[in-house]
Amino acid sequence: MKNLVMDDFHYKALPLDVHFGIGKSSDAKQILIDNGFKKVLVLTTPDQKASGEKLANELEEISAGVYPHAVMHVPIDVANRAIEFTTNNEVDCCLALGGGSTIGLAKMIALKTDMPIVAIPTTYAGSEMTSVYGYTENNLKTTGKDIRVLPKITIYDPKLTLTLPAQVSACSGMNAMAHAIEALYAEDKNPIISVLAIESIKSLAEALPIIVKDMTDIAARQKATYGAWLAGVCLGSVGMAIHHKICHTLGGSYNLPHAQAHAITLAYSVQYNRNADIEAMDRLAAALGVDSREKLGLAIYRLNKSLDIPLALKDIGLPEDGPANVAQIICDSPYYNPREYKYDELKDLLTKAYQGLPPA
Ligand code: NAD
Repeated sequence: MKNLVMDDFHYKALPLDVHFGIGKSSDAKQILIDNGFKKVLVLTTPDQKASGEKLANELEEISAGVYPHAVMHVPIDVANRAIEFTTNNEVDCCLALGGGSTIGLAKMIALKTDMPIVAIPTTYAGSEMTSVYGYTENNLKTTGKDIRVLPKITIYDPKLTLTLPAQVSACSGMNAMAHAIEALYAEDKNPIISVLAIESIKSLAEALPIIVKDMTDIAARQKATYGAWLAGVCLGSVGMAIHHKICHTLGGSYNLPHAQAHAITLAYSVQYNRNADIEAMDRLAAALGVDSREKLGLAIYRLNKSLDIPLALKDIGLPEDGPANVAQIICDSPYYNPREYKYDELKDLLTKAYQGLPPA
């Protein structure tokens, strides 16, 4: 007979203010004015400078121009220069147009100056829904949590993701799916976030294969953006586990590209945890249309393959001794996980990930 008893839980919502829709970024000026902002600095990476200039032009009299200097993993000197610039120019809002790197820079400004952030995400990474910030100094990544870095408003415009190259979109989408999957078995998981996680996983699994065939398919872009938003809510609401520990180690110790590292290792983390939280993994299997949780790792590996995502960590920069070192770092400073960390098993799975072999 089915067990109807529910576990106790605690659910605390973050104060989120989300506008979602195709073309919605053209309402940015009105949204900013409605919220009392008068001097708005648009932040971008150097690559997205032209998009930033277009947006700054649309902001007209409330624009403080574009600051196009965001880079991956927020080096501390980059953050310090941006803090100085915003302070000297009496900016009253940072409008972060971009992915996790640009939003990450805005978060460091907010942390030091209380500057409100409005985010217009253009990838699927999800940083805009979290109060987590991070920066790098002397090759070491430091992260923390502070409610001041949570964007006051987020504007999701799927149109802006049309230029994200197909393979980058696939990796970024799998990065989002990883947030949703880990939320299902988080230490502080709860029924609301689990519902959002399942909806996110289904949306991303449906949209990503369409995007890699036709990156201009706006309906698929909309669905992926929706899935990424929900994944971001998951990431911002509950703790993460082994998969995020692996990826933070790959990024922090080996500077591997963020989204690709997430996409490649997800199959192996899921394989490791396939029997760790049976209810969560059975729900995941149902969401992905897989008939047994034993086959989940392989199903994600095959999904990656169909999305033309690189399969091997060695191809994105992990050295040969990486799997053993990463397994050791994870066992020495573990995050919560629903099952214990076993060095040999982890090293074996990471070696398969290094070589791009199926997880099972
Ligand atoms: P990213 O922001 O580094 O963007 C990757 C590249 O894609 C950049 O060159 C960018 O200019 C370009 N790009 C972005 N959107 C584009 C578009 N629509 N069209 C064309 N080019 C586009 O990548 P990311 O994966 O979004 O972010 C990774 C960073 O975010 C990492 O440092 C990660 O640690 C951080 N992150 C933080 C959190 C958090 O909660 N704090 C969550 C997720 C990611």
